[in-house]
Amino acid sequence: MATVLVIGAGGVGSVAVHKMAMLSDIFTDVTLASRRLAPCAEIQKAVAKRTGKSINIAQLDADNVADTVALIDRVKPELVVNLALPYQDLAIMDACLETGTHYLDTANYEPRDEAKFEYHWQWAYQERFAEKGLMALLGSGFDPGVTNVFTAYIQKHLVADMRTLDILDCNGGDHGRAFATNFNPEINIREVTAPARHWAQGAWVETPALSHKQSFDFPEIGPRNMYLMYHEELESLSKHYPELQRARFWMTFGDAYLTHLEVLQNVGMTAIEPINYDGKEIVPLQFLKAVLPNPGDLGATTSGKTCIGNIVSGTHAGAPRTVYLYNICDHAACFAEVGSQAVSYTTGVPAMIGAALMLDGTWMKPGVFNLEQLDPDPFMSMLTAHGLPWQHIDLPHAPEFD
Ligand code: NDP
Repeated sequence: MATVLVIGAGGVGSVAVHKMAMLSDIFTDVTLASRRLAPCAEIQKAVAKRTGKSINIAQLDADNVADTVALIDRVKPELVVNLALPYQDLAIMDACLETGTHYLDTANYEPRDEAKFEYHWQWAYQERFAEKGLMALLGSGFDPGVTNVFTAYIQKHLVADMRTLDILDCNGGDHGRAFATNFNPEINIREVTAPARHWAQGAWVETPALSHKQSFDFPEIGPRNMYLMYHEELESLSKHYPELQRARFWMTFGDAYLTHLEVLQNVGMTAIEPINYDGKEIVPLQFLKAVLPNPGDLGATTSGKTCIGNIVSGTHAGAPRTVYLYNICDHAACFAEVGSQAVSYTTGVPAMIGAALMLDGTWMKPGVFNLEQLDPDPFMSMLTAHGLPWQHIDLPHAPEFD
């Protein structure tokens, strides 16, 4: 029923267009555009081979609003699904406003020269989208994305009066390489090396990057070390659930990953300020990305599982309750289905689901939204139906992690 333009032919873009091709009742016409045409052509071939469906492709530099407007005018999509990098968010939102097109992304806008992880630039589009009768859905990946929907679902059905939230992101996978990131290395390393921040009693508490470590026994994976981090969904969740007294985000890292990262940081390779090398300006982190394995190529060798979920404590029907709601995803099963590892899969599937719920009218309404502002139930049903089943268990009490 709908024409969609997907921008970004990386790991996430590949999964999303595969899944759209598998749901062709909704996604009747899909165009994949990216900075280089070659990766689009590879994905086009892979989608045709796996699903028997054809998608269109186009070359686009989405930093250029006029070029994006011209492509939208040609393709005439109802919705633009932005799976390029966070740097492109505002330019693509501007092109959507100019052409009267709905918008979805999976990561908050980032200026190139400073790692911020803040929503205010995109929330500032609220009135302009609402006035034009357009919808922008922000952060429809896994985290942010599914973790926001999990929170809304827990509040609606399991812990009505929420007090504490811990989001736990574990990648128990092994890709067999000495050092690689699971998704775009530049964005990943910016995120990991930023100071940790969590929400406590109505204020942000900042601590040095990777300074708080806890061990947690993850279902189907086992004990792993996880570290307190800042993650963008904390900003929207603490805003939309002011009753939360504490909200934290934890991510697992192996010792080898952290040792490599420490060395790279110590020698200046993770810096985002440009340096002059031999008369040419280069950004060390962008150069590092160029020499690291492409996350999209790790799928074939990655085994193990991811487990991402929320632990929420509070009261329900007058009694104290702590619930752990999570998804487990198997890297090799994702690769067998769509040719990508679980990190791209767990982001690309929710991007497709958010798009489907906008296009079939279930979630569509004018304005700029984070996922927790919409009814979680249809999204939760689609997660189970499209490869990301979830479950929840009761825990005896809120996690002690300190
Ligand atoms: P990749 O780096 O694999 O893919 C990004 C794609 O965007 C590449 O094809 C790249 O092209 C393209 N691109 C970059 N700049 C432009 C531009 N100016 N115009 C058009 N295309 C461009 O990243 P991922 O697929 O891993 O991640 C995609 C997005 O998903 C990122 O924003 C990331 O932050 C987000 N993400 C969100 C998660 C979540 O759970 N919410 C988890 C993981 C990722 P080229 O290769 O030619 O540079």
